Formats: sequence, structure tokens, C-alpha cells
Amino acid sequence: AKWVYTFGDGRAEGSSAMRDLLGGKGADLAEMANLGLPVPPGFTITTDVCTYFYENQKRFPSELAADVEASLAHIGKLTGKTFGDEEAPLLVSVRSGARASMPGMMDTVLNLGLNDVTVRALAKSAGDERFAFDSYRRFIQMYSNVVLGIGHHHFEDALESYKEAKGVSLDTELRAEDWQKLVVAFKATVEEESGKPFPQSPQEQLWGAIAAVFGSWLTPRAIIYRRIHGIPSDWGTAVNVQAMVFGNMGPTSATGVAFTRNPSTGAKELYGEFLINAQGEDVVSGIRTPQNITETARLAAGSGKPSMETAMPIVFAEFVRTTELLERHYRDMQDMEFTVENGKLWMLQTRSGKRTSLAALRIAVDMTCEGLISKEEAINRIDPASLDQLLHPAISPHALRNVIAAGLPASPGAASGEIVFSADEAEQLRNMGRKVVLVRIETCPDDIHGMHAAEGILTTRGGMTSHAAVVARGMGKPCVTGAATIRVDYAKATMSAAGVVLRKGDMLTIDGATGQVIQGSIRMSRPELTGEFAILMKWADEARRMEVRANAETPQDARAARKFGAEGIGLCRTEHMFFEGDRLTAVREMILADDPRGRRAALDKLLPMQRSDFIELFGIMAGLPVTIRLLDPPLHEFLPHAPQEIEQLAVALGLSSEKILRRLSELKEVNPMLGFRGSRLTIAYPEITEMQARAIFEAAVEVKHRTGALVRPEIMAPLIIAKHEFDLVKARVDAIAKAVETESGQTIPYTVGTMIETPRACLRAGEIAATAEFFSFGTNDLTQTCLALSRDDAGSFLGPYVSSGILAADPFVTIDREGVGELVAIAAQRSRATRPEIKLGICGEHGGDPASIEFCEKLALDYVSCSPFRVPIARLAAAQAAI
Ligand code: PEP
Ligand code: MG
Repeated sequence: AKWVYTFGDGRAEGSSAMRDLLGGKGADLAEMANLGLPVPPGFTITTDVCTYFYENQKRFPSELAADVEASLAHIGKLTGKTFGDEEAPLLVSVRSGARASMPGMMDTVLNLGLNDVTVRALAKSAGDERFAFDSYRRFIQMYSNVVLGIGHHHFEDALESYKEAKGVSLDTELRAEDWQKLVVAFKATVEEESGKPFPQSPQEQLWGAIAAVFGSWLTPRAIIYRRIHGIPSDWGTAVNVQAMVFGNMGPTSATGVAFTRNPSTGAKELYGEFLINAQGEDVVSGIRTPQNITETARLAAGSGKPSMETAMPIVFAEFVRTTELLERHYRDMQDMEFTVENGKLWMLQTRSGKRTSLAALRIAVDMTCEGLISKEEAINRIDPASLDQLLHPAISPHALRNVIAAGLPASPGAASGEIVFSADEAEQLRNMGRKVVLVRIETCPDDIHGMHAAEGILTTRGGMTSHAAVVARGMGKPCVTGAATIRVDYAKATMSAAGVVLRKGDMLTIDGATGQVIQGSIRMSRPELTGEFAILMKWADEARRMEVRANAETPQDARAARKFGAEGIGLCRTEHMFFEGDRLTAVREMILADDPRGRRAALDKLLPMQRSDFIELFGIMAGLPVTIRLLDPPLHEFLPHAPQEIEQLAVALGLSSEKILRRLSELKEVNPMLGFRGSRLTIAYPEITEMQARAIFEAAVEVKHRTGALVRPEIMAPLIIAKHEFDLVKARVDAIAKAVETESGQTIPYTVGTMIETPRACLRAGEIAATAEFFSFGTNDLTQTCLALSRDDAGSFLGPYVSSGILAADPFVTIDREGVGELVAIAAQRSRATRPEIKLGICGEHGGDPASIEFCEKLALDYVSCSPFRVPIARLAAAQAAI
């Protein structure tokens, strides 16, 4: 097997097509080398080695040592240096690189190959002792942390006390002799902590680092990151070993990160940060606040530090050309790392940049207009679920706010919550159902779980590419970074700014769009869906085949549904129209009545309310299809329970409490979800269906009369189990239609169909379709009945079923294709055999879930219906499924 792939000097054994084997970083380094870009020569140890490593008690394949040696020699030829040589030593970086990028999750070691002898050679070749010893102490610290497991604080403490003793406050004030002394101190720390001297052999260093990078695949933070982002744990990581280039060789050296477009807004502008005379991790760690790359960005930020454009104009020009080439080559926005060593540009990494969903939309639309990608590609590049971010609240521009500080607008959206100062606290409070804003001086990969739990993240240090900013954008969380005027005191659990002291638990709001930090909570509004969003949605609408409807019954939801582009109502749950005020009392009266007369009296009160509801709904939907489901009340949801409530109801209905209590105990069910609900209710009490049908038809006549809009109600029976059952319900509806037509002298176009939400209905679909004109799959109940899994109780025990892989996903979120999906497929096939033109749709929660929508497209369903806020997600997902 080939375990190692080399790159450098305009050539590479790998390419960007080999991500699975070389990891993202390795594949893209190879690609950049093939493009002739300046990449420090190096090699990639494949992900197969990682797999081998874990399958063989953390041993390496026997040929690996020879392969690595040959590859080191190859780097040596290109650089004129030799690994371990005492005169001209080759120094390398060792970095992880998984198939999917996991920013900051895995470990990196720089300056490897330095020891007490080679440090002098480095000093000589660079003509700079201070730089050489500074590099050496960085290496000792990084290596000891990553490979030997010695905490950073040991070294930071040593550095601090040294500076204190010397009476200086900045690292830059330390001279070569100081770093030399610190190297001695650092080595002593290593020996103390690990019981062994710091390894001087470059070979030992290298193999230690390689093993540590492979080992970092299974660190808790990497595991959590993979769980949050759905990255399989068997992918493994590759290891990249590369000749070192130094950004810390003085004023003509620098290091930085940049994006070809703004990752926050998507604007087409080179966007990034760099630091003169600094090494790799300095930029992202947030310890020094970085400088802008372009002059435009510097001016916009009002920064007093020079931009790269003015500080290093020649390298800047080459860098701009390189970024443009990379973006054109990959046809996507790139996120790049680079180093300038003594005026020479080196590219260290390129990858598709993480971006906010706002930026993703803008970039996809812009690139289509620039002719870089097709409309289909643009549609496929947007993760439908990420649109949720855009539909989330923002602070309305006119809202009054008490701004106490401002930082960088690192990830848009606004968030309010209780202040917490640690990731663990964030998680704890979140688990108790509280909303929190995580406030940190800076974040590190160990904070991931807390960032995930928080509504938003605020840091006082670091730039737009700091760990906090990158991770928050990836998660779609509002984030403000570098709010430098805020003083955070972890020990006292306080933060202070502008004379205000806030404590843990106080409310705080951050606005990731402006960078504002605001005391208290604030009213928020939903954004308008215009611009690139509207353009991309239009393309999606052209590309999709399935219709998208909304589940809505209130006027407010119906209006939202139309605003979000729903093409009708796929499910109007009529029982939800009765949840409040007088209506609830009338419904309760109907349920509690013990004879048809009493029921009719209650229904007579409900009829005008229902009719006016439908008039309003039909009016809002203006001729679009509206599917109305006949009453499906799980009775327990409607009956009073609290003694006080029973008392009030008794007064309202003029009955005795005793009578109500008696009726309640008669109606009590052990298993209400499998009880007296669905069409069972109308089979027993047909007068309920008659009232509802009359309300619907009279409303249709009225709306047509008033507005001229032709309303075609689609009336739907719930929870059907048999054709004969459906036929009885349909007969009642038809009879009322006839009656209303005679009374009004108008013909009313309507159809009668059924929910399919029991396994029996799926199996008998062929018969049912003989009289039902449409089916709507109620996959909430179908999941409940197919898996014998209570939809109201499953939350408490479903977790392990998903985490252990018994079920691929929560079946109430993503359709269980193997079980529920097969029932739907059977029903679709059998119903079409009877009635080829039958209209088939889905209206369970799955109608708004992209993976389930893809399945619906496979079965060629006619429409999906979901809650109004998910309509845009469904439109996009339906388009992706059709492409
Ligand atoms: C369903 O069961 O999928 C459905 C849409 O109906 P409800 O959620 O109202 O039971
Ligand atoms: Mg249902």
C-alpha cells in the first residue's frame, strides 16, 4: 500500500480529488502545488494509516518508517536542508487534516526538529538569535502540550514570572538571552512534569508528533465536534508534515488568514487578518489583535495599524492574484492560511470557507451571476436547514438599546440570555431550559459544548477569524468578538464596561450584525426575505417538482405561510381553532353532552364561529388550495383537569360539578392517543362532521360571493383505518354539500380525501383510494403507530436508540425510511393502482425536514406541507431533491 504522498515544487502525487485518503488539508496542499502555487514542500500520511493505527493497538504499518524517511529526503532535496542535520537542519510542521474541516479541533506542532544544537544553526542561518530561541521555546511548549500532555499554563506561568522578575510586560521586550534562559526553564518544566528530559532527537520528536496527531482524533473535544457536525468517527485524520516557513523572522515576515469573500455578509471583497512578525497560531488564538489585509478594510475598521496592502505591497499583489486563482479554480469561496518569510509568500492551506447562511446565499447568487457556477449548483450549495438562521430574529433598527460596548460583528443574528462565564455552566443552564449568552475572554476548542448550548457568544479578545468567530459562524450562532473595553473577571463572575457591572445570571443581548453589546434583553423582529434570498428561492421554485404547502389554521399562520411562499394550506387542524375562550367552552359543552340534543345545542354555537374562521382563512389564501381536516381531538387535550377549571366550566354550562366529574371519569382513557379520536369521533357523533362541513361550504359560498375568488375546499378525514369508515364520513360531507348547494343555488367544487396515518390504512390504501380523492400522509401518527412509539413520551428514552444506532435518526424528525417509509411507499403504489391521478402529500412534521423531503420526491408525492417557518426550507429541499 502507498501510505505517504509528497508535494512541493509545482508537483504533487495527490490532488484535491483525493480528500478521503489525504484529508482536506493534504488534498488541497497537493492541488495548490499542482497549480504551481508556492507551497512549502512536504508530504501527507494518509487516513488509511490512521485506520491501521487504531486497528493495530496504535502501531504503524511496517513500511511507514522507510516511506517517511524517503519523503523527508525529498523535502531535503527541494529545500537544501536535512532533517536532523547540525549545520543546515530541516525543520517541519506536523498538522492534522481530516476529510471534513474541524477548525481548531485537532493538534498542530510547529518548528519540529529544533534541539539544543539545531537551534544554533537556525540562529546562524537566520542571523537572528532571538528569533531562533523564541522559535525553540514555542516548539517546546507546543510539543510538550500536544505530545506529552503538559498543560500550557506551566509554560505561561514560567514566562509570566520571568517577565515579572525582569520588570517587563511585553514579550517583545525580551531579548535573545531571555529566551535562551526561558528555554532552559521550559526544559526543566518538562522534565519535572514528565519525569524525562525534553527529547533532543528529531526522529523521536517526529514520531511522537505523528502519533499524537493520530491520537488527537479521539480526544473528547474532537468527538464532541464530530457529534455536533455529524462527521463519522471512522473517517480518521491524515497527518501533514511540511517544511517550516517562518512568519516571525522580522518586519518583512508575517502570517495571516484570509477569505476570498466576506464570510459574514458574502460581499465580494478579500477579507482577512494578518500579523507582522508572528507565527501561525498567533492570529487565530486571539492573543494579539490582528491587522487588516486590505486598505479598504482597514479604513472601514478605523484601525491605526497598517494593512498588508500598504505594509507589503509587492507580496500583497501576489497574494491577491493567488486568492483569485484559487477561487476560480475551486469555484467557491476560499479560506486560506499564508505566511510571508523574508518577503516571500507561502501558501499553507486553502479550503472552502465556512460562512453564515446570509453569506452563503449571497455568494451562491453572485457566483451564478458571475458565470462561475450554474443555478443548480447555487441551489445545491445552500444547506436548507441553515435558512433557519435567516428566519431568526434580529434587533429592529429603531429599538432603544443600552449599548455598553462594541466588538466585531463576527456572526450575525441577535441573541439575549443570562450571562455565563464558562462552557460547563452554559450547558447546565441550557439543560434546565434557560437561555444563556456565553461570555469569555477568548474561546478554545474545549468550549465547544458551551458554545453549542448558548444562544450567542461574546469574547473580549480576538478578531473575525478567532476561534469563537469561526466556530459560531459554523454553528449559525450570533457572535461578537474582540469587545476589548469589557473587563471579564472569571473569579468574581462579573463583566464590566462603560461603568456598568454585570453579574452571572444578569440579562445580556449581543447583536452579531453590528457588534453591539447591550445590557438587558430587547425586543426583536423577524427579517424581511428579500434580495439574494428571494432570488435563490425563485430559482428553487423553478427547479422543484413538488408543491409546498403549510400547516396553518390561524389567520396569523396563514399570512406567514403566504409570506414564506406556501402554495396553499396542506393541513388545517380544526381542533386548534377551538383552543381559546368561548370556543373552548362550547367544545367542552359538546364533548360533555350525553345525548345528541345536547351536542347539537353546543354545535349550533360553534357553527358561526367555524364559518367566520373559514371565511377569514379562505380570504387570506385567495383561491389557493386549503385542506381542512375534520375534528381530531385527543379528548384529554380538551377537557378540564384542575378543580378550579371544572368549577368555572360548571358555572358556564349551568351544570353541577358532580355531573362534569362523572362525565369526565366516563370519558377518561388509558391510552388517549389510541382512543376516541380521529374519525372515530365522527362515526359516533356524525352531527360534528355535519356542522364542520356546513361551516366550510357556507364559508366557500360567502367568500366567492364577496370576493369572486373560487374556493375549492379539500375536506379530509383523520386517522382512518378502513374504506367503509371513510365512506361513512364522506357520505355525511356529500349530503351537506348538496344541502348547501340547494340552499344557496351555487355549485361548490370540493374534494374529499383522507389522512393516512395508520399502518392499516397504508395496507388498505388500494381500496380506500376507490372513494378518497386524495391522501395526506400524517407521518407523526404513522410513526407513532408503526413503531408503537408514543410521540408524546418518546423523548425520554429515544436518545440511546439513536446514539447506539438502533435508529438512524429521531424518527419524529426524519422519516424512518425502512419502516414508516415502506408503509408510505406501499400506500402510494396501491392507491395509484386504483386511482392513477390521486393526489398524494405529506403533512406530518417530516414535511419540513430536508432528508424526508428527499424521500417524498423519490416516491413522486405531489406536495409536502409543513409549519409556515419551514416553508422556505421545504422549497429549497424540494428543489435539491428534484435536481
Ligand atoms: C400527523 O399525525 O402526522 C398529523 C399531521 O396530524 P397531527 O399531528 O395533528 O396528529
Ligand atoms: Mg395525526
